[in-house]
Amino acid sequence: YFWNNRNPLLMSKPKTAISPTRAENYPEWYQQVVKAADLAENSDVRGCMVIKPWGYAIWENIQRHLDAMFKATGHENAYFPLFIPMSFLEKEAEHVEGFAKECAVVTHHRLEPDGQGGLQPAPSAKLEEPLIVRPTSETIIGATFARWVQSYRDLPILINQWANVVRWELRTRMFLRTTEFLWQEGHTVHATEEEARAETKQMLDVYADFAESVMAMPVIKGEKTAGERFPGAVATYSIEALMQDRKALQAGTSHFLGQNFAKAQEIKFQNVEGELQYAWTTSWGVSTRLVGGLIMTHSDDDGLRLPPRLAPAQIVILPVHRNDEERAIVMQHCETLKLELAAQQYAHEPIRVRIDDRDLRGGDKRWQWIKRGVPLILELGPRDIADEKVFVKRRDIEGKGDAVPRSEIVSTVANRLAEIQQALFDRAKALRTEATIEIDTLDKFEEFFTEDSPGGLAYCHFVDSPTMEAKLKELKCTVRCVPFDGPIESGKCIFTGEPSDRRGIFARAY
Ligand code: AMP
Repeated sequence: YFWNNRNPLLMSKPKTAISPTRAENYPEWYQQVVKAADLAENSDVRGCMVIKPWGYAIWENIQRHLDAMFKATGHENAYFPLFIPMSFLEKEAEHVEGFAKECAVVTHHRLEPDGQGGLQPAPSAKLEEPLIVRPTSETIIGATFARWVQSYRDLPILINQWANVVRWELRTRMFLRTTEFLWQEGHTVHATEEEARAETKQMLDVYADFAESVMAMPVIKGEKTAGERFPGAVATYSIEALMQDRKALQAGTSHFLGQNFAKAQEIKFQNVEGELQYAWTTSWGVSTRLVGGLIMTHSDDDGLRLPPRLAPAQIVILPVHRNDEERAIVMQHCETLKLELAAQQYAHEPIRVRIDDRDLRGGDKRWQWIKRGVPLILELGPRDIADEKVFVKRRDIEGKGDAVPRSEIVSTVANRLAEIQQALFDRAKALRTEATIEIDTLDKFEEFFTEDSPGGLAYCHFVDSPTMEAKLKELKCTVRCVPFDGPIESGKCIFTGEPSDRRGIFARAY
């Protein structure tokens, strides 16, 4: 009877742990998964979220992997101010136009009583020059780089910063688009255009590699069209992923800034010949949006499903016992099992194992970990111990789980985790393949993106034009990128009939 939670007849559970389901209401399902997995909650400040320990631990794992990859490609971390003098933003015309609309501005440095029992900014403490809370740091870091760079010998400069930024977004959604978000921003300076372009591509490759091998999230690498470019950039590359509702998510960007910022900020150096010239710069970033991408790529109607490489705990052991006597024996077995599992390695790291011995009903506890997406849930009770078995539930596949011989579980666990990691990737990739189509006529395109069609990724010939912009706006559709691996072939723009030699990817997007 203490196996109640394994007896389907006695289990009191709704059909799915998350309500509504993905099919019923995808956006609401997303919010409910964030809540049920205990990742984050809305805060008292509109558009800003509280990231809870389980969600933050996922972000820490993202940081840890990316940080190692940045360092392996020669970058170093540094830290720059949260505030940017307003005049810095004015220097690059396109940049200011892109960001001015969503800036938080600091104008005073002291509060005083307002005479009605409240507070107000002290008029006498008005800043001479307002400060912007950084929406991105090209300008403040560029001004610093101008001091660091004198000679070709000082180049390249390869810097990354882990920080928070603020963009006053009007429509926000936890992780995907928040007013304040956590991110990393890489900023580099080079002596030549080729080197800066190679850096921009290299970092996009790093992001794609991370997304696919660590997050198990398939991505497409490509270049953004002029309208979607980062304000002030010469070229913007991105990785694009397809979510389960068939909407695309821009998951990371890498910008070739040419000499635009170098000219605006006087980043100059003396070359080998002794001549003074402007440097070439890049910037690249990914944010806590990746956590949103992770949720929407892998989760199901029972909650989060974590790829093992990012899971804060890869295995949770649930002790099953009825009384203190049983508890003592079971806990001893659990502790031994935990030590043996934690001594194993998966993906060059010790396996992360927890025991959950909270005083909670077994079924509730099990469901908590299912909703939190732990890849493997193990249960161990007196009967398992007598049978020399461990009960194992794989989160990525349906069903209750299996009894696995105790003698096998430790030696096979790394393989099991690898299988889960691969299965999640394969599943996401299969969905993307199914949702991808080549379209050659405007009629078909309109049909594909009508309100009640599921949509997906449409590869189409196009030439950027106001006609296209208007049509996309009408269909609530966007051009994601021109993929790097697309073939060069002659075709006609589906919007205007103009000749085109490459297909772009169109999709509804977050
Ligand atoms: P950008 O500097 O605009 O190229 O953005 C860098 C990264 O931050 C991209 O990967 C974006 O997807 C992500 N990002 C941009 N705005 C937000 C936001 N409001 N919330 C979360 N992530 C964002």
